[in-house]
Amino acid sequence: MIDTHIHADTRSSEDFEKMFVSGIDTAISCCYYPYKLANESVLINHMMRILNFDAKRSSEYGLNLKIALGIHPTNSLKPNDKIFEILARFIEKKKIVALGEIGLEKLTNEEIAIFKKQLDLADETKTKVIIHTPRENKLNVLKVIKSMVFESIDPKLVVIDHINQTTINEVVDDNFIIGLTVQPQKMDVEEAITIFTGYGFNDFILNSDISNKPSDPLSVPKTIRTMEKLGFKKKNIEKIAFANAKKFFNL
Ligand SMILES: [Zn+2]
Repeated sequence: MIDTHIHADTRSSEDFEKMFVSGIDTAISCCYYPYKLANESVLINHMMRILNFDAKRSSEYGLNLKIALGIHPTNSLKPNDKIFEILARFIEKKKIVALGEIGLEKLTNEEIAIFKKQLDLADETKTKVIIHTPRENKLNVLKVIKSMVFESIDPKLVVIDHINQTTINEVVDDNFIIGLTVQPQKMDVEEAITIFTGYGFNDFILNSDISNKPSDPLSVPKTIRTMEKLGFKKKNIEKIAFANAKKFFNL
């Protein structure tokens, strides 16, 4: 299995071990600094830590960590030129599988400017992007995200993440890859399975988004095993468990 969105820096070695033993071979760790950012250097340190330290830490427990770096909307800060230089360099050196997670949270001017700059960088370099949608005001923020994506980048490079039953109709016909996040307070296994049942299996990837917030490192295997118990076709389960993510991110 592939867990397509985690925050490895906030989690323990024990979590990595549990995930690996439960059948997760690969996870994608995204950028998000959950504390106040004093300056640009703090975010750069955060990125370097994920890239250089957490990947090694998780591999010691069997878990292959792929990396997405970018400026999370709640980490929008100025100046950010050095960060953009670093992101461009890591894209060029193929150190990251996507820019992420990026997106919008409260629709501030700063967030919008930084999101746009990241979409443009992704478009120029044909890099994939993992786009966060917020817990609050989700549908309205998603509509702004969509309009910015359509004017900036090919939707086939885009994951719209944390989609749920209230937002699925907004994204289902637009060539995006759609991320479902099974996490306490966000979505349970049943809701994810209801969405697959209603909308098919081709466009979806699955993740736990384990972070400093309430999280379940086993939410991907729990969802996949529940699909097996319910008798879903093997081919469809495999799309959700790993095949769609493997293809999209070239893993
Ligand atoms: Zn996240």
